[in-house]
Amino acid sequence: PVDRLPEIQEARLKLPVLAEEQVIMEAVKENDCVVLCGETGSGKTTQVPQFLYEAGYASAGGIIGVTEPRRVAAVSMSHRVANEMNLSTGVVSYQIRYEGNVTKDTKIKFMTDGVLLKEVQKDFLLHKYSVIIIDEAHERSVYTDILIGLLSRIVALRNKKGLPMKLLIMSATLRVEDFTENKRLFCTPPPVIKVEARQFPVTVHFNKHTPLEDYTAEAFRKTCKIHRMLPPGGILVFLTGQAEVHSVCRRLRKAFPYRPNNMEHTETEDTSEELKKIKKQKQKKSVSLPRIDLDNYSALPVDDRDEDRQAGIDDDDDDECSDLDLGDQPEDTEEKADPSIPLYVLPLYSLLAPEQQAKVFRPPPPGARLCVVATNVAETSLTIPGIKYVVDCGRVKKRFYDRVTGVSTFKVTWTSQASANQRAGRAGRTEAGHCYRLYSSAVFSDFSQFSEAEITRRPVDDLVLQMKDLNIQKVVNFPFPTPPCSEALVSAEQLLISLGALEEPPRQGRMVDMKRASLSCPITPLGRAMAAFPVAPRYAKMLALGRQQGCMPYIITIVAAMTVREIFEELDRPASNEEESSKLAGRKARFSQMRRLWAGQGQSLLLGDLMVMLGAVGACEFVGCTPKFCEENGLRYKAMLEIRRLRGQLTNAVNAVCSDAGVCVDSKMPPPTESQVACLRQIVLAGLGDHLARRVQAEELLDSKWRNGYKTPLLDEPVFIHPSSALHKELPEFVVYQEIFETTKMYMRGMCAVQ
Ligand code: ADP
Ligand code: MG
Repeated sequence: PVDRLPEIQEARLKLPVLAEEQVIMEAVKENDCVVLCGETGSGKTTQVPQFLYEAGYASAGGIIGVTEPRRVAAVSMSHRVANEMNLSTGVVSYQIRYEGNVTKDTKIKFMTDGVLLKEVQKDFLLHKYSVIIIDEAHERSVYTDILIGLLSRIVALRNKKGLPMKLLIMSATLRVEDFTENKRLFCTPPPVIKVEARQFPVTVHFNKHTPLEDYTAEAFRKTCKIHRMLPPGGILVFLTGQAEVHSVCRRLRKAFPYRPNNMEHTETEDTSEELKKIKKQKQKKSVSLPRIDLDNYSALPVDDRDEDRQAGIDDDDDDECSDLDLGDQPEDTEEKADPSIPLYVLPLYSLLAPEQQAKVFRPPPPGARLCVVATNVAETSLTIPGIKYVVDCGRVKKRFYDRVTGVSTFKVTWTSQASANQRAGRAGRTEAGHCYRLYSSAVFSDFSQFSEAEITRRPVDDLVLQMKDLNIQKVVNFPFPTPPCSEALVSAEQLLISLGALEEPPRQGRMVDMKRASLSCPITPLGRAMAAFPVAPRYAKMLALGRQQGCMPYIITIVAAMTVREIFEELDRPASNEEESSKLAGRKARFSQMRRLWAGQGQSLLLGDLMVMLGAVGACEFVGCTPKFCEENGLRYKAMLEIRRLRGQLTNAVNAVCSDAGVCVDSKMPPPTESQVACLRQIVLAGLGDHLARRVQAEELLDSKWRNGYKTPLLDEPVFIHPSSALHKELPEFVVYQEIFETTKMYMRGMCAVQ
């Protein structure tokens, strides 16, 4: 029996999903797999695990597992459910990549989908679970898709063995045919239960004009207008990334200064912390390096044909806004600070610290209007109470890969109609609301209807390795809800063969179709070891080779640093005045000096950017990884903490794979010796061997665009060494690189010289 507080009980009863408890539990009892659809906010994530708990699914030895595509959701939902059930976090717990609070008493476990995938590797039948809920299935994250494919088999096997197990797929949209009508996945289609959400009408206002560049300025202006002119109600602003979120938060706070005189001290501190962060963010304005957000694979809501949504799409242009002159007012004069109408501004994005994230669920201070400036985490996984106005920039930031060359770029693109409608829907949870789209209805009608499943858009070498480790030989035959393209599968297998993770296909006769033959290669023992490391196959290969000459601690550090993005502060921004400019120049000089110092000389220098990373982490850890050291030496503190955690995790993984490795994390790691550096370069080469580039020879210099350029096997265009690289002046004959990214030119990142 669950002993809930009366106010919790009252709030639960208002959730649409409560009305369906019987129907849902009946369906779960009768079927191995059930699909549950319901609008965001209808109570799926918080309530369904409780239904299962109360129906005894966690009392016969097995526990209830819930997967989320984002770390944010796993953590915050586990807290919320523990709180609603009046149980401790030792019973309702979470597990994400680096941390968790699972105990032996855990009955409901929230986790990221990646965590469950790792568990499948250890125990294919997932014996400890009696039921698995795949939440946010509409996002179609790669791991979610793979898990659904695997679980379709696992559930069948468990039931055949007389060890019953249930699968619940929960989606915020009704577009579930990829799951239900895919005969390879489920030969009898699972029943679909639809929860009728209480959705109030949302009036959608399109802009007459679509600002092409400066949509953050437009978002800021629109938010100011709403705040000044419209009745009370929270505002939710959708932007595309962390930097934009901070910039708009800063401008809004300046325009409507909010003095928290009746707030606790800690809150004030938070704000100044926030300010510091913003300052840092500002310094990084012109950063264009790609950023991997491990948590935020992508949000790809897929459908929205909800007849029940009453969002009348109203094509009237919003007159009071459309005659605003867009884009060319300097930011400081466009809004005078107005402390008379307090606005309580909060950022929200997936890498934000959980305590900061939790603030959006609390009511704003009395008299202030809540304004949450968010990335698309707020689109479906979190429901923010009290939102009446949505401001939608209509864009989303996505990573794009070139299928052939692997070159990646982050691009901000238009979102899909389905996503835009999800965003609009956030305004109608508690009462009728309004959605302001910062683009015209004509632009909207050009949006694609749905976003594509992530698996069709990215390289799949890590997934193929994981699947081979699960003894799924013919990955092409796997019941993917949406299969990746066969080109991507072939190139993944070829990379894995070249890394030695898969066996070479036998060559029979002369006319072997290598592409086809490579599609069912079994995993090698090296491949198994690599699959145990929670990093991409190239880096796993380096770890697997790291035991030579005591190189393991260095390789662990290099791999950790390579997988965490943007460990260095960037200072390439225009200064606003002379004083600032000389200060910036001073800092920049110091940072480059430090980087030169870390790069070392002779052999070390040949290890290039990787030596700089190694030196930076070594120096930072030597003094205990303090914010002060990072600030003074041009390192990003958050990145350094992430590297520290990853080093710990990789060290454990290495010790688990080879029990006699005996490596530990040494905060006083001495620099590698000359011979170790030589060895490190070979190990790096083994992982990045196909990322080889050769300096263009003088006689090839027909075109000046090739000056100082490098040739790579796959690209016709030259690639370059970025000025921030340790090898910028060296221009070695051959280099290997971590990746190529495209900004103004094609640049290589994470380089190491080869001889
Ligand atoms: P769904 O999964 O269907 O989108 P949820 O179960 O996440 O719905 O949310 C149900 C309700 O619980 C929402 O109205 C939301 O505002 C509320 N809620 C969720 N998390 C919290 C929290 N941490 N604090 C307060 N309310 C919350
Ligand atoms: Mg949910």
